Amino acid sequence: MQPQEKETEISQLGEFGLIHHLTDGIEPKNSSTLKGIGDDAAILTYPDTDVVVSTDLLLEGVHFDLTYVPLKHLGYKSAVVNISDICAMNATPRQITVSLGISKRFTVEHMEQLYDGIRLACQVYGVDLVGGDTTASRQGLVISVTVIGDAPRNMVVRRDGAHDTDLICVSGDLGAAYMGLQVLEREKAASAGRPDFIPKFDGKEYLVERQLKPEARKDIVEALAKAGIKPTSMIDVSDGLSSELLHICKASNTGCRVYEDRIPIDYQTAVMAKELNMNLVTAALNGGEDYELLFTVPLTDHERVSSMKGVHVIGRITRPELGCALVTRDDQEMPLQAQGWNHMA
Ligand code: ADP
Ligand code: MG
Repeated sequence: MQPQEKETEISQLGEFGLIHHLTDGIEPKNSSTLKGIGDDAAILTYPDTDVVVSTDLLLEGVHFDLTYVPLKHLGYKSAVVNISDICAMNATPRQITVSLGISKRFTVEHMEQLYDGIRLACQVYGVDLVGGDTTASRQGLVISVTVIGDAPRNMVVRRDGAHDTDLICVSGDLGAAYMGLQVLEREKAASAGRPDFIPKFDGKEYLVERQLKPEARKDIVEALAKAGIKPTSMIDVSDGLSSELLHICKASNTGCRVYEDRIPIDYQTAVMAKELNMNLVTAALNGGEDYELLFTVPLTDHERVSSMKGVHVIGRITRPELGCALVTRDDQEMPLQAQGWNHMA
């Protein structure tokens, strides 16, 4: 991300000018949004509904690296990871607010790119951007997104409802976003001091996309409703399967068994693990940022959940005394460990 000669300094527009410029033409789509941007607060209305709220703070250099993350992707991902938290509550995302701390090296055009991504996410997920805050930061870019969602009364799903004998299910596949990060880091290292360097992603496109452009599984929440399934517990996979399963089991006071041969892994993930000489299952268990949904359902939902597209039954919930373990292909039990993706190195 290099400031170009012809770009506009933010001071030319001023704070209000920038806010207006970035949010121009945004019209609420959800009936729960009575008033969006433009007053001291947004106004939301919710009859017969439970409301869920989640927020995230992203700091440049800590949570994202602009040497390989395009600003549009960053905007998209900042919104999507929050939307994913609402999906993980079995709720429908409706509104977001976006707050920015902007340092001097960013121009109006940079912020436009960021908002292109945010606007795209709002469009894809049917969410209204209803407000935010804009300030200067001393150093680097700061992005905070808050998301609000809803579910019919008593349909919100928490982490603490799993029971002995429940089935453990996960959507999509695991470990690809982590492998995408490895690809990007590798190309970044190879490009050091070579301005004409062109990164190579051949055969790794899926991995890079999973890292740079994750999606929230709103479709799975809708499919669960359609199938008449209310999970007993649910969480999104942001820190890795092991860590998320341990959260569910701890909150629900249960144990679990996950079967190694059931963990869904994409072909490109497997190839990359081999290239890096890395244990594939470790990567799938601990690699983060997949934003898939991990949930439990009663045993009686086995047939219904098995016929859902893109959902895999990977294990079962047990009594707490049995602890949490991975059952390997040769029938060994390995205790699950809460190594988040950031502890993997
Ligand atoms: P206040 O002085 O009450 O904090 P602001 O001048 O910061 O209000 O914001 C004016 C309006 O613009 C409010 O509706 C606010 O929510 C919205 N807003 C401010 N910054 C952003 C942003 N980065 N993205 C979207 N909306 C924003
Ligand atoms: Mg303000």
